[in-house]
Amino acid sequence: MTFPDHELDRIKAIPISEIIGRDVTWDRAKTNAHAGDFWACCPFHAEKTPSFHCDDRRGTYKCFGCGAAGDGIGYLMERHGLTFVEAVESLGGKRDAPELSPEQKAALEAERAAKAAADARDDNIYRARELRRAREIWTAGRTFAGSPGETIYWRGRGLWAPGRPGERSAVYPSLRFAEDLPYYAPALGKGQKPRLIYSGPAVLAAIVGPADGDDLRFQGVHITWFDPDHAGEKVRLIDPATGEGLPAKKIRGSKARGWILLRDPRRVGIGIGRLRIGEGVETVRSYWQAEEAVRGADGIAATAYATSIDLQSMGGPAMATVAHPSATHTTKTGKVVPDRVPGPVPDTETPRALRALMLPDSVREVLMLGDSDSDAFTARQVHARAAARWARPGRRIGSVWAPEGEDFNDRLKERAQAALGQETGTAPARGNA
Ligand SMILES: [Zn+2]
Repeated sequence: MTFPDHELDRIKAIPISEIIGRDVTWDRAKTNAHAGDFWACCPFHAEKTPSFHCDDRRGTYKCFGCGAAGDGIGYLMERHGLTFVEAVESLGGKRDAPELSPEQKAALEAERAAKAAADARDDNIYRARELRRAREIWTAGRTFAGSPGETIYWRGRGLWAPGRPGERSAVYPSLRFAEDLPYYAPALGKGQKPRLIYSGPAVLAAIVGPADGDDLRFQGVHITWFDPDHAGEKVRLIDPATGEGLPAKKIRGSKARGWILLRDPRRVGIGIGRLRIGEGVETVRSYWQAEEAVRGADGIAATAYATSIDLQSMGGPAMATVAHPSATHTTKTGKVVPDRVPGPVPDTETPRALRALMLPDSVREVLMLGDSDSDAFTARQVHARAAARWARPGRRIGSVWAPEGEDFNDRLKERAQAALGQETGTAPARGNA
């Protein structure tokens, strides 16, 4: 004997975050409860940083570490060893629930349609509000060159603002400086508000997209709060309620399909022939400075420099995960198995593929800048995915990697910090914020 369809539908409509939320603590920095996006450390494998994702809209969970995936009922079966019937019953499902009359069915369907419409409306309101806020922050920002964003944060990393005499017009004005931008820590619980915990100077970068054609539509702002008292260092933020560290970088607006275009030759009527793309404004600017020193301003006239919003968004969604060659975890049953990470084959088929970053058609040569300071295997999967996704007849695509254990800014930063230490007679600040 099994459950009537309407009873199963009712159970499947329970938000999956409520089911899994009994077992895990959601990571507040990464979670966006409003969008139905929840992150936690995986309940199926041991880990310290959250790679377990739970999606209320789809009613599914997925671990990017070990590959565990399924729906709410599947979760209870996997995690708690329940049968299907036990799992549904544990959620209040009744096998002897009476069949519905046609009127009841129609009413139920109307109710669901109304809820879906309300969700979509909420979603649109949320997105519109985010975009409006992003635009307000961006518009209130001032010129980056010469601001403390350049003279304190960038200078401490061995960087200077693009837009020096002779090439000013070729620089896409993608950076700005915010004098005193409030920082909100995530709300502590449902129905509560984000908490203002800090306010200070920040570097702003415009997220634009889509990348096809010349349409540089503003879609969000990437914010880096820096420490005004320690050149080259991001600000260290601690959540006063929990004692946890909080990220000094944030995004407002949308990151889907977007990039930060630091240098756009189209500003002076030159098509993008060559593209350098990496993860992080500081990394890409480091490479740009180095390349300009070697090739000269003319040598990079047709080269665009861009950053993806984060590492995974450079490669976009993957068809499947692959086993990590060296990272492992121990399962419930005590077996040691490899971690799983998004693999080298791009997902070009499902609706998720629409969120991937695509390049302008004019790009003939792509060089991806790979940091070697995090997990190199994971980064190589991302590069492979991007290369496959961006492949076109006549387009060359390659990767260059920072020395083992470093990103492209490390040595510049080290030298800048040493020089600043000499200037002020203090010991140079060390370490990566
Ligand atoms: Zn896992």
